[in-house]
Amino acid sequence: MKYSLLGFGVSNKAVLDYLLNKGESVFVSEKRTLDDRTKEYLRSAGVEYEEGENSERIFKSDVIVVSPGVKPSHTLLLKARERGISITTELDLAYSELTRGENVIVAITGTNGKTTTTKLVAHLLSKRYRVFEGGNIGTPLISAVKDAENYEFFVCEVSSFQLHWSSSFKPKVGVLLNVALDHLDWHADFEDYLNSKLSMFKRQDANDIAFISKSIEEFVSDFESRIFLFDKNMGYHFKLNEGLLCFEDEHLEYMLENIPKHMRENLTAAVSVGLYLGLQPSEIVEGLNTFQSLPHRFEFVLERDGIVFVNDSKATNAHAVVAALNNFDKKNVILLLSGLGKNEDYKELSRAISQKCRAVIVFGEMKKLAERFVKNVPLVFAEDMKDAVKLAVEMATPKSVVLLSPAGASFDLYADYAERGEDFKRCVKEIMSETVYLKNS
Ligand code: ADP
Repeated sequence: MKYSLLGFGVSNKAVLDYLLNKGESVFVSEKRTLDDRTKEYLRSAGVEYEEGENSERIFKSDVIVVSPGVKPSHTLLLKARERGISITTELDLAYSELTRGENVIVAITGTNGKTTTTKLVAHLLSKRYRVFEGGNIGTPLISAVKDAENYEFFVCEVSSFQLHWSSSFKPKVGVLLNVALDHLDWHADFEDYLNSKLSMFKRQDANDIAFISKSIEEFVSDFESRIFLFDKNMGYHFKLNEGLLCFEDEHLEYMLENIPKHMRENLTAAVSVGLYLGLQPSEIVEGLNTFQSLPHRFEFVLERDGIVFVNDSKATNAHAVVAALNNFDKKNVILLLSGLGKNEDYKELSRAISQKCRAVIVFGEMKKLAERFVKNVPLVFAEDMKDAVKLAVEMATPKSVVLLSPAGASFDLYADYAERGEDFKRCVKEIMSETVYLKNS
């Protein structure tokens, strides 16, 4: 068989290794330029490639493997369909290999909380089992194929882009955390986005289980799988399969009360999956106690002079910002917005800002959008991150929270959300130490 890889990012690089291992013939097409090391690697492996463009050379193959980031409207793919060339994606190739054995795939999707929940589920399961963790984060699922016998569970984060291109992937255990408007710059409309998320559940059968957040019960329709609705408000009484598995624990109650409200959804989902897959309550509690929360997701930075700084740089859509704001009392948040918006409906964010914020400071591309939804609250334009933090500190009083929860992707000013979050933390530390120095002098 001859394969063309359309796009050469993390997932298709893993696909290349997988196909070369199988002795298949591969052509790589990448619209950006490739770095010298990659080109040298491709040449030494005898792989033909094109860079700086995607051309019709990809048609000289039996199968096109699409990178998840490629938009559905890509003209070459429309033409490939007309020519009857089969189109697949990394997720489906991995699935077809892994389902040959007794492998159990646990897949987590949703608009927000996927990474946190995936890491938490993998961490909990690793108390007792051999676990592969990856998918849309870290290592692509296809990389697990070569040593699949080393794992009992394959825990993977799955994005709507991956699911859009998939036609066969279905997990034994699926988790849907929440669905809100996101990525409308990529998906045709909300229905298309929602259908991508639901597709892996619609393919499940009666031997599979779907853990769905009660908050989005309305989206559950023609699923054949067993459905468990988890509820972030159910507190610490976990009841699974009509009470077959129950779990009540004081530590858990304490934990649920002391984590950010929106993270309860992730924790509840992860504990439900852990119980279902046979973990003992004591293992779950130990796992929760040793889990390190992830940076850039509602991350506490420091508290000084009564002002708390929180880095939520990974909040790249309105739903995540609303979730972050809902953790605070009325009118004490100074919110920093930034980045590239994604054609969202900002009604709920507008309401949350009016209720929770004393002021909003905006910098970068988001300046063009913010006036649309920041109402009844002062909106201040800043030059950059440092200027934004300085302005926030000037406005803050004891009990204020300065929250970077940008509502946009970071690519206007930064390589990624992590670089943006690190810049925020650096600016906060620098400015607060200067502030203390001035006050003391
Ligand atoms: P994802 O992988 O889906 O992007 P992350 O765990 O990386 O999810 O979190 C992304 C953003 O969403 C962060 O700002 C985080 O605080 C927020 N978030 C995490 N879990 C939830 C949730 N259950 N509901 C709403 N927002 C959440």
